[in-house]
Amino acid sequence: AVLIDDVYKRFGELEVLKGVSLSVEPGQVVALIGRSGSGKSTLLRCINGLEAINAGRIEVAGHVVDQDPKKLRELRKDVGIVFQSYNLFPHLTVGQNIMLSPRITQNVPTAQAESLAREVLAQVGLSEKFDSYPDNLSGGQQQRVAIARSLAMRPKVMLFDEVTSALDPELTGEVLLVMEKLAEAGMTMLLVTHEMAFARNVASTTVFMHQGKIWESGTSKEVFANPQTPELRNFVSAGA
Ligand code: ATP
Ligand code: MG
Repeated sequence: AVLIDDVYKRFGELEVLKGVSLSVEPGQVVALIGRSGSGKSTLLRCINGLEAINAGRIEVAGHVVDQDPKKLRELRKDVGIVFQSYNLFPHLTVGQNIMLSPRITQNVPTAQAESLAREVLAQVGLSEKFDSYPDNLSGGQQQRVAIARSLAMRPKVMLFDEVTSALDPELTGEVLLVMEKLAEAGMTMLLVTHEMAFARNVASTTVFMHQGKIWESGTSKEVFANPQTPELRNFVSAGA
């Protein structure tokens, strides 16, 4: 479902991705871990074309990532991304926020968009919030709405970039639970996380990035129990 082949990315003089290759099979859950600045977010952004790569090739959900606007639109119907900041529209209700993309980008009729919105809202456990405004929800609930909004596009692959980092610890669990259920339902997921327990328990594979490269990867069990490099050992023992 995701094929990343020898990808390079630089910002001006700064080379941020230095020959990254990674494949994610359909239904697989892969956690990306690593120090601040190692290139995790950049890699995710390249996968859905938010950043253009300088060399290499990325194929995701059958699309070769290309900066052509029409191709980007097609790509993003199949590849959802959720960030730390949820960016819900405050003047729209939860339901309206979720219905927006299917209606505008896929011309889904209003009635159908509404039933779709109710369905994905139920999936994140927030059926009763359809008519609420984002400001009246907790941070964890807002993030779950952001996930639902992404799911309403019926993506084949979901990318998550530190979706719990801005949340108070007591709100983190409910968001992780939603992601865990998605994983169990067979969603292909690539997620950047500082939640080491989540990576270890939910992701089948963990990838450790260091200085723009995949430094080490393997089954999550192996990666955490038996790190092979001093860099990963330090990272794991520092508790991320
Ligand atoms: P963190 O854990 O802090 O989120 P990260 O692994 O996600 O870190 P990236 O955000 O991918 O790291 O950044 C990698 C490097 O690229 C950093 O040195 C960062 O400053 C730089 N960088 C990222 N985006 C840009 C940009 N748009 N312009 C210039 N430099 C950038
Ligand atoms: Mg980041």
